[in-house]
Amino acid sequence: METNKRLGGLDHFKILAALLIIAIHTSPLSSFSNSADFVFTRIIARIAVPFFIMTTGYFLLPQYLFNNCKDMKPLYGFLKKSLLLYAIAIIIYLPVNLYSGQLNGIGFLDVFRILIFDGTLYHLWYLPASILGVLVLFLMSRKLPFKVTVGVVIFLYILGLFGDSYFGFLTNLHFFQEIYMDMFHVFSYTRNGIFYVPIFLVLGAAIQQVPQKTNRKLTVIAFGFSLIVMIAEGITLHHLNVQRHDSMYIALLPCMVFLFQIVLSADMKSKKRLRTISTWIYILHPLLIIFVRGIAKLTHLENLFINNSIIHYTVVCVLSCTFAIILENLLAKGKVNKLPFPCGRAWIEIDKNSLRQNVSALRTLLPSGSQLMPAIKANAYGHGAVLLAKELNKLGITAFCVATVLEGVELRNGGVKGDILILGYTHPKQFSLLKKYHLTQTVIDSGYAKTLNAYGKKIKVQLKIDTGMHRMGERAEREEEICSIFHCKNLIITGAYTHLCCDETTTANDAEFTKKQGDKFYSVVSDLEKRGYSCGKLHLLASYGLINYPEFAGDYVRIGIALYGVLSNKTDLNYCPVELHPVLSIKARVALTKDLFEGEGVGYGLQYVAKQDRKIAVLTIGYADGIPRTLSCGHGKVLINQNEAPIIGRICMDQTLIDITDVPCVKPGDIAVVIGGCGNKEITAYDLAEASGTITNELLSRLGSRLNRVLV
Ligand SMILES: *Cc1c(COP(=O)(O)O)cnc(C)c1O
Repeated sequence: METNKRLGGLDHFKILAALLIIAIHTSPLSSFSNSADFVFTRIIARIAVPFFIMTTGYFLLPQYLFNNCKDMKPLYGFLKKSLLLYAIAIIIYLPVNLYSGQLNGIGFLDVFRILIFDGTLYHLWYLPASILGVLVLFLMSRKLPFKVTVGVVIFLYILGLFGDSYFGFLTNLHFFQEIYMDMFHVFSYTRNGIFYVPIFLVLGAAIQQVPQKTNRKLTVIAFGFSLIVMIAEGITLHHLNVQRHDSMYIALLPCMVFLFQIVLSADMKSKKRLRTISTWIYILHPLLIIFVRGIAKLTHLENLFINNSIIHYTVVCVLSCTFAIILENLLAKGKVNKLPFPCGRAWIEIDKNSLRQNVSALRTLLPSGSQLMPAIKANAYGHGAVLLAKELNKLGITAFCVATVLEGVELRNGGVKGDILILGYTHPKQFSLLKKYHLTQTVIDSGYAKTLNAYGKKIKVQLKIDTGMHRMGERAEREEEICSIFHCKNLIITGAYTHLCCDETTTANDAEFTKKQGDKFYSVVSDLEKRGYSCGKLHLLASYGLINYPEFAGDYVRIGIALYGVLSNKTDLNYCPVELHPVLSIKARVALTKDLFEGEGVGYGLQYVAKQDRKIAVLTIGYADGIPRTLSCGHGKVLINQNEAPIIGRICMDQTLIDITDVPCVKPGDIAVVIGGCGNKEITAYDLAEASGTITNELLSRLGSRLNRVLV
């Protein structure tokens, strides 16, 4: 199976795209050949901005365009971030605007035109354009079916073409030309948030929805071909002298579709930092163009640094990247020091963004018509069941499964909406809870069906069919007994499911057994349907099933561990087709620090004895919080002030001791990271699970109820 870290390619290509944007503004080939420079900067480099727009579409819009998501937070988050960036950029470039006299004598309409369409400096049009484009598409997603939206954005792009590269064709159509001339009072170019951005947003979002099995070689060839067509288109339009501007081409659309797919299929690790760095390169580069020109004039090196366009370009690129990296580092430091939770002793942070990204990524693996039914048993694998389920409700999730009836009751009391399926056994004395809290009970075999039926009140149920795991469920071959369940008057059968037990790999044996299970299940269901019994919703897959055998998905996938952004074992990530983001971090407070002198021991049994003088800290977290005791005595570590500190001595019920001799400035009240990132270091649930000889599922589901769960 392919290893496909889909987002890594996007992150890396963003840097390349930012460098192409610098090229557009510095014309690197101009001192050698004007035609070559035209082809490079006015045609080829025009892929850069659509690429940025498509990534926005890819991440932000599928939930609104395809899943009718009601949660406005991702949209608000995007708008807030873009507006903030735009405000910062406006302020940075205000001195340039003032110096160049651009703002002298401008009227109200000009302010409107500059702020909403043109940007206050030549490159800044992109920020208001992406904001406007996203808003336009969001509104369309609320009002129009997707197909109509596609029609509208294509139409807008065509209108845009005639205000851009194809403008000259309107010369003889005075009526239209005048309309455009009037429009150009409102915006200077049609390359803006209305005519240009929406189509690329839709393309990005649509690519996120299609399955990823593209033939790489063919895609590269298709991209090459489209690029050649675009170059021919650009050169022809240039020679015909019809271009008013040169941002929009017809062949740019296929070019971008193929390019984006190639970049997505690159096998690279995702690096969030690169995203921020590319943004700063884009924002800062005009400043560095001015800087390089200024220095060149001062030092009389104009010939080298200005007139040689390649050197000029290279220097601007190097400086822009350097400053962007410095800025990113400074900002990242600022973030680390932010106190997320002011007074807890130890707590769990739930990253909403990661959860949202996992939901959209996993949705791309679902065959059409299939939906996620998150497994939020065991307190949502330690994450906090009510907290998680409510976030999932906001992301459009309307079905859940839990292990026990009381877990179902907890969700209902917490205000969780949707269907809740109890996967496990419920005692007859608790049947009343099923009714009272609108829960759906699993019929674990035909005997249990009779007991439940005898309760005498209508109860919603789903049939569990045992296809080979031999745990819960009526044996698949006992069809008569399964039929008898349909005769239970008080059971309202809303679905039927089975559970796979060998879906963790695709080795020949496992694949064969899994296929047998799938076939058995569907054959029972089809026999039942033939006899006139309707089974309702069907489901077979859990996380590994979705990853390895998506073809078996029925109406639901009971997604558990993957939703939380991890798999059971780290090595399984190698064949995971989507990128998962861990949702949970664990933090603990430093209670106090103290000296430990040479020869002294610490903790129960004095299992650690200092060979030289050491400095230690006491963390307010212990095995009662779910930290495995097997991590004692150097088997585990934590992160503190961006450094690693080993666990020393035996972990206690409520406290853990760490060695901070090599970590500067640790003081009481500081926060240690037990699972999660800190600066550029990270400890994962895999690390803890591996060090204590188990899988992430066990580690996470045993996290203690004493830890507060907070959304971040
Ligand atoms: C726990 C559970 C799931 C979820 O499993 P993951 O491997 O965590 O995705 C699905 N179905 C059943 C029956 C379960 O018990």
